[in-house]
Amino acid sequence: MKKLRLLILGSTGSVGSSTLDVVARHPDRFEVVGLTSFRRVDVLFEQCRSFKPRVAVLPTEERAARLRELLAAAGLDTEVRVGAAALTELAGAAEVDAVMASIVGAAGLPACMAAAKAGKRLLLANKEALVVGGGLFMQAVADGGATLLPIDSEHSAIFQCLPEDRSAWARRIDHIVLTASGGPFRERQHDSLHDVTPEQAVAHPNWVMGRKISVDSATMMNKALEVIEARWLFDLAPENIRVVVHPQSIIHSMVVCRDGSVLAQLGTPDMKVPIAYGLSFPERIESGAPRLDFMAMKDLSFNPPDRERFPGLYLAWDALRAPAGTTAILNAANEEAVAAFLSGTIGFTAIHSVNARTLDQLQPHLGASHTLDDLLELDARARVQAQQVMKELRT
Ligand code: NAD
Ligand code: MG
Repeated sequence: MKKLRLLILGSTGSVGSSTLDVVARHPDRFEVVGLTSFRRVDVLFEQCRSFKPRVAVLPTEERAARLRELLAAAGLDTEVRVGAAALTELAGAAEVDAVMASIVGAAGLPACMAAAKAGKRLLLANKEALVVGGGLFMQAVADGGATLLPIDSEHSAIFQCLPEDRSAWARRIDHIVLTASGGPFRERQHDSLHDVTPEQAVAHPNWVMGRKISVDSATMMNKALEVIEARWLFDLAPENIRVVVHPQSIIHSMVVCRDGSVLAQLGTPDMKVPIAYGLSFPERIESGAPRLDFMAMKDLSFNPPDRERFPGLYLAWDALRAPAGTTAILNAANEEAVAAFLSGTIGFTAIHSVNARTLDQLQPHLGASHTLDDLLELDARARVQAQQVMKELRT
């Protein structure tokens, strides 16, 4: 069997390293051709030592020089490239069959677009890229003939409950139900949320993830982004995407069919399962995830999300019904607000204020976004506006 030649964008992150865990179990199936990181040169070097990719990418000359030194000392011939353009170029390169998009944030969008246009097998963890790219992203997938495989656990669950033939989806689905754990503050009084610390916010009860998505889980903005992501992945009207809080994170999401039958995908909360499915689809391979033990399983419970505690969640449906580009503004504001919260500049509940105000201020002036450059410009404008809102909030 010909090996699948894999590029992992953001290989040093949580999803990136879980991907390498799965890949390491199947040396006969996968060849790692490229690895990339933003900051963690030492981790990237260790990954290069284990997987011997042809290329590694870092954002600055300084970090690249450090990696080159380490590689030379170890006698490794991985070529080190520099900058965002190198990511985009590599994502569309002929020597790559599949791209794991596991960069966090809109920063991953250009490389995703390049992979889509080049017709790659595109494993999408980087939900922000689709939230920003929207219809343009899906058009690039269609034009390039790419195979888009969801890695977000909820979307992988939905995908696993659907037939391989996409043309049958619309006739089959009545609506989908995305499950949400409710994060670390599911039961916390909403009037005590203003003084939670970054450390409390990133301490997720069920999943170990990067810091940004962990904060998003605590605000439930993660689920808002996932509602938007589902709209594009499964071509659904906003009202046909519902959310239920399921604190055990055992059911990863559900498809409610037109006849009332409900299909669910279950498993322990471990990203290696959706990653393995993305890597092996339509086959199944060992993921290394712990198995569900039904005899030891406690109750599975379900609750509606609390609007007062998680107001950010509800921005998703509003943004989807608003003109295209609105979801890009929401994403940019949220990325800026979360970064400010993590650095201690704003409080936890201010994240929602920043998102809602930035949307209110920019949305009326929204022009059409026809190209990737239009979207990137809108993203940049929304970040400036969000910073302005934060300045106002502080005074
Ligand atoms: P992480 O912070 O652990 O890793 C992010 C990776 O992206 C790192 O390798 C980092 O070096 C790289 N990176 C960060 N900023 C970059 C930039 N500007 N340019 C280039 N590279 C950059 O994040 P994560 O938890 O692995 O999440 C990655 C993506 O997957 C996110 O979009 C997240 O929403 C999604 N996701 C994660 C999980 C999870 O369990 N961690 C689950 C579902 C979806
Ligand atoms: Mg998810």
